[in-house]
Amino acid sequence: MSLEQTVAAFKEYLDKQYALGCAIGTMHWDASTGAPKGGAQARAKRIGILSAEHFKMQVSPQMKEFLDELGAHKDELDEITQALYRLTKKDYDESVAVPPEFIGELSEAQAISEHIWEKAKNTNDFALFAPYLEKMIGLQKRLAHYLNPNLPAYDVLLNTYEEGMMTKELDVYFATLREKIVPLLKKIMESGNQKDNAFRYRAVPIETQRKIGQLMMDTVGYNLHYGMIAESEHPFSTSFGKHDCRITVHYHEHDFLAALYATLHEAGHATYEMNPADEIANTILDSGTSNGVHESQSRFYENYIGRSRAFCELVWPKLSALLGADFADVTLDDFYRCVNHAEPSLIRIEADELTYSLHIMVRYEIEKLMFTTDVNVNDLPALWNAKIKEYIGVDVPEDKLGVLQDVHWSGGMFGYFPSYSLGSAYGAQFYYTMKKELDFDSLVRSGDIKAVTAWLTDKIHKYGSMKTPKEIMLLATGEEFNPEYYAQYLTEKFSTIYGL
Ligand code: ZN
Repeated sequence: MSLEQTVAAFKEYLDKQYALGCAIGTMHWDASTGAPKGGAQARAKRIGILSAEHFKMQVSPQMKEFLDELGAHKDELDEITQALYRLTKKDYDESVAVPPEFIGELSEAQAISEHIWEKAKNTNDFALFAPYLEKMIGLQKRLAHYLNPNLPAYDVLLNTYEEGMMTKELDVYFATLREKIVPLLKKIMESGNQKDNAFRYRAVPIETQRKIGQLMMDTVGYNLHYGMIAESEHPFSTSFGKHDCRITVHYHEHDFLAALYATLHEAGHATYEMNPADEIANTILDSGTSNGVHESQSRFYENYIGRSRAFCELVWPKLSALLGADFADVTLDDFYRCVNHAEPSLIRIEADELTYSLHIMVRYEIEKLMFTTDVNVNDLPALWNAKIKEYIGVDVPEDKLGVLQDVHWSGGMFGYFPSYSLGSAYGAQFYYTMKKELDFDSLVRSGDIKAVTAWLTDKIHKYGSMKTPKEIMLLATGEEFNPEYYAQYLTEKFSTIYGL
């Protein structure tokens, strides 16, 4: 076979695998958005069979042949084929590095641990969960060793979620937050300048909330010709190529802002997936490059655009008309202050823009202890509570509102949390770079958000996963990741709002 024929056969093979991936994804979407509950077991079995086929294609002798052949002629490949090779090779190497027996042991332990965690959370019983957590830590240490025995385990795990991100860099990042954001929150609490925002909990009929969601999607240009919105227990987004990028939300009658901002957040994820260059559409390169960069885009639409003064001015007349007489006493200023209310809290997923990353910092510091020291898992609740008190300033009354609140650790997802926070911090760096080139506030105020999306598309979206997160940062902003931008953004914004 000539190299040209090998490349064509390789791409055809990947197309088949991509189609399988889309089939599995559609079944997951279906399961989360309204498929009959009675079909759950049969569906899970089918998903299992298709997933096994997908995995087999990833590690097949045929795949190895392709990779050997392409690897030997790497310099002769065009840019897109090189990127396809790089991603596929990485997946292949990681997949064959882990013995199948270990994968079986891990999935079984995960299922039990998640189940026990749920019980422990409901009954507020950390001691019940502790041995399973310890087991998950041990298993993830082994997994990390299989994947890369030459790096510290926690760095290996961090890299599975954010390529190239190491503790060395994250230590600097979180130190910046500790020095600048912890005191900022203290100042805000001492300022006595909190506004009453109780109106956000007034009832808003679900029908009205759907109209508000539509207003948000129209405003940011999330086009339902290539998208779709459905309802699920927790909001998420999923995509099947650039012409089919879907989102879900969950409406709460007494908290209309939850679905409003979830719509903007998920529309941000979907917009990223809608804008890869045509040349990489419907290939494994058309999806976002990492968790952190993905989260930077969702947070960009949710916070940098959606919580800006300009955006509030833009949408308030229509929003207030939809909210109707029950909200007649609420002004634009009240709305802006409400969506930027900063306050210490216990629960990460309910935290505001300012305090969110402090919740992540607590998790990061504890994960580091788990993987670099012989910390006793039984000491984790006390450690957690002390750190929440130190950074956020609240007392944790019970473990279900503390160390037991997140599902991640029960499934062995260590190293995932930092990518949530990095998303916000990357977003700040994109934001300040964009502001050098665009009159951001005027564009948003006048409703020209497509100009903002065009900038993000040109600097980030069009590459899909052709570039690594570090390459994207350098290409888009001209410098490496710098946490000072995020600290600057939060300080400027919240000092102005709270009159510090
Ligand atoms: Zn997200």
